[in-house]
Amino acid sequence: MKISIVFLVIISITSLLIYFNSPDSTTMAKVSNLINSDTTKHKGESMNEKLVKTDEEWKKELSQEQYRILREKGTERAFTGKYWDHHEIGIYICAACGTELFESDTKFDSGCGWPSYFEPIEKNRIVYKEDKSFGMKRTEVMCAKCDGHLGHVFDDGPPPTGLRFCINSGSLKFVLKEK
Ligand code: FE
Repeated sequence: MKISIVFLVIISITSLLIYFNSPDSTTMAKVSNLINSDTTKHKGESMNEKLVKTDEEWKKELSQEQYRILREKGTERAFTGKYWDHHEIGIYICAACGTELFESDTKFDSGCGWPSYFEPIEKNRIVYKEDKSFGMKRTEVMCAKCDGHLGHVFDDGPPPTGLRFCINSGSLKFVLKEK
């Protein structure tokens, strides 16, 4: 009798631990969907080698705010960034390494106060990482070339991907499309 109670307690604790440590499964399922089916326009372009720089080098090249976001995984306050309400036609590139990350025609008004996109220009330009900071389970997105922190991806975006790439304006630069 005692043994079965101990057994039940162990099983319950294990299940709870598994539940609380499991990754953000819906977002990751949609991300895998995006990666596997790749609805993005620029297919098959692979990222070149990683761009690796020291903290000192990044500090010299980036503004304080860019460094705080890109290299220290900071977050700008909602509705304060340069691009949350920006509607020009063009491309958003990584502020650290210049990699083209998002196109303006994938940007949508999410109401969250940060620029939001439903997909990146090409799947390989972003890397995804589970983020359990601040007691939340989120999926961090980073620039695949320089590993700069961009923001997070959530599973409440519009079609066709159902994803919302919630990105700090501070990690982006906008390049206007020439007419
Ligand atoms: Fe980059």
